[in-house]
Amino acid sequence: MNYKNITVAGCGVLGSQIAFQIAFKGFDVAVYDVNEVAVAKAQERISKLKPRYQKHFKVSEEEVDQAFNRLSFYNDLSLAVAEADLVIEAVPEVVQIKSDFYKKLGQVAPEKTIFATNSSTLLPSQFAEDTGRPEKFLALHFANQIWVSNTAEVMKHPGTDPEVFDDMLEFAKAIGMVALPLHKEQPGYILNSLLVPLLEAAELLLVNEISDVESIDKTWQIATGAPKGPFATLDIIGITTAYNIAKAKAETGNPQFVKVAELLKTEYIDKGKLGIATGEGFYHY
Ligand code: NAD
Repeated sequence: MNYKNITVAGCGVLGSQIAFQIAFKGFDVAVYDVNEVAVAKAQERISKLKPRYQKHFKVSEEEVDQAFNRLSFYNDLSLAVAEADLVIEAVPEVVQIKSDFYKKLGQVAPEKTIFATNSSTLLPSQFAEDTGRPEKFLALHFANQIWVSNTAEVMKHPGTDPEVFDDMLEFAKAIGMVALPLHKEQPGYILNSLLVPLLEAAELLLVNEISDVESIDKTWQIATGAPKGPFATLDIIGITTAYNIAKAKAETGNPQFVKVAELLKTEYIDKGKLGIATGEGFYHY
């Protein structure tokens, strides 16, 4: 693995965390966003991470300032990627935006540059051709609050060069992540492939009036030793996200999830109970 200069493209919620984490681990990071306003917002977002890193890693103000100084900011993609060994893409989760981005990136990035997408729900094979270099493209998926939840799911598409895959696992470790290989494409990666069925099973136990929130959570916690049950987990994720997933499933004609979506809407969303973020969801906080 010979990555020195990293570019992070799209510096919103996740891009800002990815950029700062990598800079914190000693790499030079070019940050790209669409225009001056977005770049100013990105700088503000990253600045706000400094005290959180200081507290979490028990480091000095000087150390987080040094990390910040390893970042440079661009609203011109060609300049942002001119030296890049690796571009990590964290632009919005919209197929057309990502597709347009990769077509442009493929043209302006040096030939050596590897591309990685942080997409949560889209598969790398959807964009492999757009990149113009499918063998140098794969997914590198981080979790929100990257400094605490330090998983990096590294996922190939069928055309990814195995050496690029191995290098990415090594890079993920070098930036303080636990590197988790996925040898084939999988919607939802490892985490959501496990988590979503659990959460949905819990929702169905509730709407079918089999049991109640507390009993379902307690069963899971005591039997498996998990620190939290599915409903406490849903409160962290946010009820709005749970509702959107249930609604999408209901729209595919699954009547069970019509009931789940209805419950989440009338009993939680309409009452402002959106989870931890609003102080109440399935539990009070
Ligand atoms: P966000 O909306 O917070 O940030 C997107 C950023 O991209 C913004 O700064 C925006 O200005 C910029 N942008 C818009 N169009 C662009 C373009 N054409 N080129 C470059 N930048 C552009 O989104 P987010 O939550 O950070 O999500 C970004 C990606 O990360 C998505 O693919 C998402 O699935 C993934 N992700 C998000 C989370 C999460 O918890 N938010 C977790 C893991 C992965």
